[in-house]
Amino acid sequence: MNHYDVLIVGAGPGGIYSAYELLKIRPDLKVAVFERGHALEKRKCPIDGDKVKSCIKCKTCAIMSGFGGAGAFSDGKYNLTNDFGGTLYEYVGKKKAMELMEYVDDINMAHGGEGTKLYTTANTRFKKICIQNELNLLDASVRHLGTDINYIVLENLYNELKEHVDFFFDTPVEHVEKTEEGYLIRTEKDEYSCRKCIVSVGRSGSSWMEKVCQELDIPTKSNRVDIGVRVELPAVVFSELTDELYESKIVYRTEKFEDRVRTFCMNPKGAVVSENTNGIVTVNGHSYENPDLQTENTNFALLVAKHFSLPFKDSNGYGESIARLSNMLGGGVIVQRFGDLVRGRRSTEKRIEEGLVIPTLAATPGDLSLVLPKRILDGIIEMIYALDKIAPGTANPDTLLYGVEVKFYNMEVSIDENLESLHKGLFIIGDGSGVTHSLSHASASGVYVARYIAQNI
Ligand SMILES: Cc1cc2nc3c(=O)[nH]c(=O)nc-3n(C[C@H](O)[C@H](O)[C@H](O)COP(=O)(O)OP(=O)(O)OC[C@H]3O[C@@H](n4cnc5c(N)ncnc54)[C@H](O)[C@@H]3O)c2cc1C
Repeated sequence: MNHYDVLIVGAGPGGIYSAYELLKIRPDLKVAVFERGHALEKRKCPIDGDKVKSCIKCKTCAIMSGFGGAGAFSDGKYNLTNDFGGTLYEYVGKKKAMELMEYVDDINMAHGGEGTKLYTTANTRFKKICIQNELNLLDASVRHLGTDINYIVLENLYNELKEHVDFFFDTPVEHVEKTEEGYLIRTEKDEYSCRKCIVSVGRSGSSWMEKVCQELDIPTKSNRVDIGVRVELPAVVFSELTDELYESKIVYRTEKFEDRVRTFCMNPKGAVVSENTNGIVTVNGHSYENPDLQTENTNFALLVAKHFSLPFKDSNGYGESIARLSNMLGGGVIVQRFGDLVRGRRSTEKRIEEGLVIPTLAATPGDLSLVLPKRILDGIIEMIYALDKIAPGTANPDTLLYGVEVKFYNMEVSIDENLESLHKGLFIIGDGSGVTHSLSHASASGVYVARYIAQNI
């Protein structure tokens, strides 16, 4: 049997930065990483907009899985803040969480990110403009690597790590079992034992994580899902904001239901993409730092948070059902002009073609009002009109809305201040723990457990 000091499940940011920090502090430790998806250079989504126009539901989604995790083809926006992106600070304290995120930023800068811009919303004139229009601009510093530089950083990290850490790609872990000395990891073909195990399986590993928690009697809770659309409009409409802030996290409280609608994952001059989580196709976005790869459009999500109370517990199931409905009607992602939505009619190929905004994702023209619950849709429409006041043109009838965008929150796994489960030596980190929802928080959680393990093994 293969024995390791530390086994890491998942090669997303959580797994990568734990391996990095372990190697840095304790190069004497024998460490391996198991990853369901491919090595970085083999990750390729088959959608080319030409022969393959929409998701063909690959066995492992190249966007979500493989070295780099869901972050590999992300926009590489590292938000350095405790205001959103996760609740790591509730476990490690606000100061420590910020310090860890800044440390991750330093690693990224030393591995190819140098020269990329760090934006900040602190003391910006937009704060006042937003407040005057009933919008709240949240505080954050954003390091924008862009999809291209993000890839280079990952490549450099991998080249450094692979000399000392064993990587097993295309190797999903099936079971984690507790043993007297530590843990036993079972894959389809082999078994591996370890003293400490770090599980960092992200959003794509959520069902698997749930199964592991059931098998090991680790308590979990799940009560939130964010549902909405991805907005795409000419980049000039948002350029004042995006040129100065790059990403602005803006929150609006709707008049009708007093729900909170927020902007999420803003991609100036970017592209809308579809993503496949456990067979369900939803929408996302990214952008490149390289001007040659940029588009004429900016995209961002508008999301409404839905919290459930007892007896309903399956918030992700609710989000999935809505996403399935859009997949059923549109065969994948649906796109609709804002003007068609408010007029109560579906969009057609012709109406989209005649519009001002050229879609960056080949989605099926349709009617989002047949998919999204009224309360959520009303909130999104209200927010589009509110944003129109600070970025005139947002409520243009040709603005495109892609649906659905669902932000699934992994169930929250019960872990302590060391991110350790009730089973000593089993750490659950990153988005898979439900504690983080972003690149910076997931990476920071990896560094944090690695330091703890390095001191205690
Ligand atoms: C298109 C896109 C754009 C995004 N843009 C941004 C952004 O700009 N900024 C931001 O902060 N966040 C962004 N995100 C979110 C961000 O990518 C995640 O928050 C982050 O990657 C979480 O890191 P993680 O390590 O916890 O999980 P992940 O990155 O999801 O990595 C988990 C890894 O575990 C693997 N895995 C799962 N189950 C198993 C198993 N049983 N055995 C072995 N391996 C397994 C998966 O294949 C995956 O590679 C984006 C996400 C997407 C999809």
